[in-house]
Amino acid sequence: MSKENKAKIAIIGGGIAGASVALYLSEFPLEITLFEKNSSLVSGPPMCHLHAGGNLYREIDDAQCIKLLKQSIELLRFYPHAIDFRPTVIAIPTTDTGEPCELFSRLEKLQKEYASLIQKDESNKVLGESEEYYKLFGKEEVEKLREETVKKHPETLDDWLIPIAKNLDLTKIKFPLILVQEYGLNVFRIAANSSLALQKKENVTLKTNTFVKEIIKKKDSFIIENERFDYLINAAGFQSGVIDDMLGIKRERLVEFKAAYVTKWETNETVWPEIIFYGKRGTPNGMAQFTPYPNGYFQLHGMTKEITLFEDGLAKSSKLSAQPKLESKFIEKIDKGWKFSVTKERTTRAIEHISKFMPAFKASKVASKPLYGAQQIPGDDATLRASEVSFEGERYARCEIVKASSILTMADAITKKLIDLNILDKEMYGKRDFSTAKKIESETITNYAEKLCLEREYPKSLASVNYGVRERI
Ligand SMILES: Cc1cc2nc3c(=O)[nH]c(=O)nc-3n(C[C@H](O)[C@H](O)[C@H](O)COP(=O)(O)OP(=O)(O)OC[C@H]3O[C@@H](n4cnc5c(N)ncnc54)[C@H](O)[C@@H]3O)c2cc1C
Repeated sequence: MSKENKAKIAIIGGGIAGASVALYLSEFPLEITLFEKNSSLVSGPPMCHLHAGGNLYREIDDAQCIKLLKQSIELLRFYPHAIDFRPTVIAIPTTDTGEPCELFSRLEKLQKEYASLIQKDESNKVLGESEEYYKLFGKEEVEKLREETVKKHPETLDDWLIPIAKNLDLTKIKFPLILVQEYGLNVFRIAANSSLALQKKENVTLKTNTFVKEIIKKKDSFIIENERFDYLINAAGFQSGVIDDMLGIKRERLVEFKAAYVTKWETNETVWPEIIFYGKRGTPNGMAQFTPYPNGYFQLHGMTKEITLFEDGLAKSSKLSAQPKLESKFIEKIDKGWKFSVTKERTTRAIEHISKFMPAFKASKVASKPLYGAQQIPGDDATLRASEVSFEGERYARCEIVKASSILTMADAITKKLIDLNILDKEMYGKRDFSTAKKIESETITNYAEKLCLEREYPKSLASVNYGVRERI
């Protein structure tokens, strides 16, 4: 099909949603233009955790957890070079009202679901053996592991627990500890991988440094920057409501501003799992999250209003506008950056939050500005975690992901709409070329991701993963 005859798709926003849907649709006979106001792709709010089972969230139902598991496997297969293949340990503090046993039935369901996904397609076996999807560690076992030497190349689930066993204050934790195969997701590597893959696509025009200010809606098309498009995809993240407003379309959504903090810790232990300490969101005991990177760098979240969350950091759309209005202090942080005094204050609190459970971590220091941003949550339920896309009329899609893992379900649904419009053939539905992003060499991705880290003023160690791509993927 000639370039002139191909349907033209406009995507506004080059975050993980827009960049990934561009990559996905570029496999089809379409002409795609991606508009991004910033100078590089995937430069919005961060991501560090692949929610392969939703085990970070006690408050969500089992159906959302199962969806997150399935979607995370899909994302891992799409962007394997962006994954840090290390597990996550979940600990329940003694001060918390919850008990580890309350999580067992969900873990069993997730393990069964993972086994059945492998049975359907052996390529889904990307989180290790299904029998090892999770493991419980009693107090005696943890005390024994405390005496072991930390492994540079952990092979067993027990190996992974050693650094934790050595550093955790065991009097502050309820047992068993839970180790689960939820991996790390590296935002700089996603940015590098999607950019490099898109640059290779002849049917994709990347318009970075391009802020879409106006859209002219015609009967069966849209005019953006003097160009006509057959289909419009709004992937503007927390600013999706601005695009809805331009088109005069109503939509209810929330927007939340949050931040994670980057620290450096001179520790002998080099390869860590992630650690989660449960706690009630928004209280001083809110969940604490310790995410490892190479060379002693750690990313911290603390779900209190003094660390990751902010007073008035959650805004709602109104009857007059589909765009929730975040207070100007948050927009200023997004557009102009942070004052060092605030970075230091909040990072120090994050270090203290983790040190309650791992006393030696108190020696760690502020390493850079935070990783931060605002994200959208469609509807009015702030606890929603698995969400994908919504449609308005025949030719307009809104990407509404809350977690990165939802990108492929989102792209499938958009493909279905293009099939309904006779823009694509029906056999194209669900036909994913998982090799597109995978074909780029891991080293090339590292080099590009390091460049992005430096441009964005973060340590270049954040461009690498602790534990690289497994051979079998
Ligand atoms: C602190 C924090 C931690 C998080 N951790 C995780 C995690 O561990 N795992 C996870 O899965 N998710 C996590 N998230 C959520 C994740 O960051 C978001 O779900 C994801 O970034 C949303 O991607 P997006 O592409 O929809 O939006 P964005 O990344 O916001 O991309 C939207 C893009 O659109 C561009 N844009 C907007 N308007 C226009 C316009 N008019 N013209 C041109 N360009 C425009 C913006 O510049 C931006 O680049 C976290 C979020 C935060 C805030």
